Amino acid sequence: MRMDAGALRLTLGYLLLATLWVLLSDRLLAGLDLSVERLEQLQSLKGVAFVAVTGIWLYLLLHCHALAREQSWLKLKANTERLNLALDAAQDGLWDWDPGRRQVFFSPSYAALLGLSQAELGTTREAWAARLHPDDCENALHALLALDRHGHYQDTHRLRHRDGSYRWILARGRLLLDGQGQPYRFLGIASDITQRRADEESLRQAAAVFDATHEGVLVTDRDQVVVHVNPAFTRITGYSAEEMLGQQPSLLKSGRHDSAFYHALWNALQSRGAWSGEVWNRRKSGEIYPQWQSIRAIRDESGQISHYVAVFSDISVLKRSQNELDYLAHHDPLCNLPNRLLFTERVEHALERASPEQPGAVLLIDLDHFKHINESLGHNVGDLLLKAVGERFSGLLSKGMTLARLGGDEFGLLCEHCQDPAQAAGVAQRLLSCLGKPYQLNGHELYLSASIGIRLFPKDSDSLERVLRDADSALFKAKSSGRESYAFYAEELTEFARLRIELVSALHHALEHDELRVHYQPLHDLADGALIGAEALVRWQHPQRGLVPPGEFIPVAEDSGLIGAIDAWVLEQACRQMVRWQAQAQEQVPRFVAVNVSSRLFGREGLDRQVAKVLNDTGLDPGRLELEVTESAIMANPDAALGLLHRLRALGVRLAIDDFGTGYSSLARLKRLPVHKLKLDQSFVRGLPHDADDVAITRAVVALGHSLELKVLAEGIEQPEQVKFLRQIGCDYGQGYHFGRPQPAVAPAPGPQPVCCSSGHD
Ligand code: C2E
Ligand code: MG
Ligand code: MG
Repeated sequence: MRMDAGALRLTLGYLLLATLWVLLSDRLLAGLDLSVERLEQLQSLKGVAFVAVTGIWLYLLLHCHALAREQSWLKLKANTERLNLALDAAQDGLWDWDPGRRQVFFSPSYAALLGLSQAELGTTREAWAARLHPDDCENALHALLALDRHGHYQDTHRLRHRDGSYRWILARGRLLLDGQGQPYRFLGIASDITQRRADEESLRQAAAVFDATHEGVLVTDRDQVVVHVNPAFTRITGYSAEEMLGQQPSLLKSGRHDSAFYHALWNALQSRGAWSGEVWNRRKSGEIYPQWQSIRAIRDESGQISHYVAVFSDISVLKRSQNELDYLAHHDPLCNLPNRLLFTERVEHALERASPEQPGAVLLIDLDHFKHINESLGHNVGDLLLKAVGERFSGLLSKGMTLARLGGDEFGLLCEHCQDPAQAAGVAQRLLSCLGKPYQLNGHELYLSASIGIRLFPKDSDSLERVLRDADSALFKAKSSGRESYAFYAEELTEFARLRIELVSALHHALEHDELRVHYQPLHDLADGALIGAEALVRWQHPQRGLVPPGEFIPVAEDSGLIGAIDAWVLEQACRQMVRWQAQAQEQVPRFVAVNVSSRLFGREGLDRQVAKVLNDTGLDPGRLELEVTESAIMANPDAALGLLHRLRALGVRLAIDDFGTGYSSLARLKRLPVHKLKLDQSFVRGLPHDADDVAITRAVVALGHSLELKVLAEGIEQPEQVKFLRQIGCDYGQGYHFGRPQPAVAPAPGPQPVCCSSGHD
């Protein structure tokens, strides 16, 4: 039993005081010299007083002690209650081991952690140790050795629950030592951390997944500030975590999506809490790439969005291989051309878009006798030949055309813009011509021809099947007509186109073999009948057909692009002729030569440079050249025309508007044109002077021309009364059979008079 120091001090003090009282009071009484009887009375009184005083003192002492005990008991009770409540709230258990008595106190809540009652758990360390997981026994039992220097203890171990499962217990406590440094108590609390461990474990797993996944992960807070990215994010985007944290994901925007796209994305996130789809983003390197992205909104306990998590994968490789697959599915591997599938898709689209104003054509091309080449020279040579044919055809393609290998020796050509049969026939002719040259393959010289079937579209109730079937029957027609030719689905088109094509090649021939001629028609002053100039008009001296008028070949030349060469040739001839006339220094020669400029050339760049060059080459004074431009050519592109006319005028040449009255000029524009002359179209002159409409129009044009300070020339004057009428209304000049037909320029001398005086040619 331990000695209580306070109680000892109290007892010793009492003993001392009582002894002193006994000794001193007796001595005091003896010194009073009292009678024995009195002394005995006082002795008794003193004894009674002593007992009374000590009795009161003892009472007070006991009372104080009882009070103190009660207070400390109340305090203890409150503390115990608090402790129990705290342990209860924390769902923790209390353990208290008394090493001396080899007893352990386990609180009911400790036992409850294992699904047991206090009694079931027992009060010995052995009973407790029996519940330890075999793997944790050693560590748990030696945990005392692992105390820190303050005697603090912490250990995690598994204990078997009533249901047989093991629960992870975190025990924390302290070893208390007595005065001699001997342990006398070891106590602490224990908590069930099974759930926490499981949570930590799944967090660890999630973190490992987060780090190891191939998918990029980006987490932002509710304000879209990036708070987390994973290594895959860095690998895909090139941005490190440090570069991204604190930034907005918009840093990755590629600019490929419009605001409506992002609007829809945010709408989905706000309403459904998730969005997934394809997004094009920009890597740090600047490269734009596609990614498949899923975004989820994460909500906190109060239901408010706290974070957004985006998980994405780079699908550029996938896309590439998809594109490659797509390419393979739609292309012929031998010729590297679109295959039948893609061809029919394109034809279908073209049919959807086509309109009478925007017609097109489908051409099916079949190589003649290709089978023989394959059979006699082998498939290798056949393949090489097909490749070579594909390359030659490809060289002819222009915008809006799709060439495809449909299989075997059959090719298809879709022309999305094909104005008329002639254009389609021209394409077919070029395809046939390009095959014409021999092929050198594996030491063989091979000749090849083809047949082509043409189907124009749109027609009523067109369908893909119908167009292809018609083209196929046209191809059959071409083959049966002796191969190496083309045929239209409709017979008359074939003939029409054939003639046009023949005409074009004959015109080529004509240009090369000098079959073109220039005739000149005189232009007269109506006031005095004097010759003022001559208009150069082209003719074709055809070996079989004789002299062909321009009306028959100029439109074809314009469509085929030959007009440039023809007009340049006429311009040069006319200028040279004018120089020659000037050199004659006679009265009866034209003072200027008028040359027609095709409307097709009028819109083109460089006409002014071309004219300047011819003037320079021939040495003709620019004032002696008049260029005639039709009214419709100007009105087709008035702004470009205005610029060109100004540049031509700056050269010093004269300008006339040809066929005036047929082109619906706007007066406002006419006013601004830098021209010198209006040539009233012959269709209005024909009815003069009797047709009231022609009279009215002629009067109006003359008045208009004069009000704009322009000279007016009337074309196609055939009758003297037309001259008379025109003179009366003040028309300045005239041209027509009445004055003279177009005819070749005559040699100066000796010989007939020049162009202007003669009549009855053409
Ligand atoms: P244009 O420039 O209006 O030429 C006048 C046309 O009227 C000429 O026809 C001429 O022969 C014809 N003509 C002249 N007087 C009379 C007449 O009294 N009665 C009738 N019925 N006709 C008459 P042509 O030579 O057949 O030329 C036709 C058109 O061909 C020309 O009309 C011009 O637009 C075009 N043309 C002629 N030569 C050329 C050329 O070198 N280049 C270009 N681009 N076009 C040309
Ligand atoms: Mg003319
Ligand atoms: Mg004319």
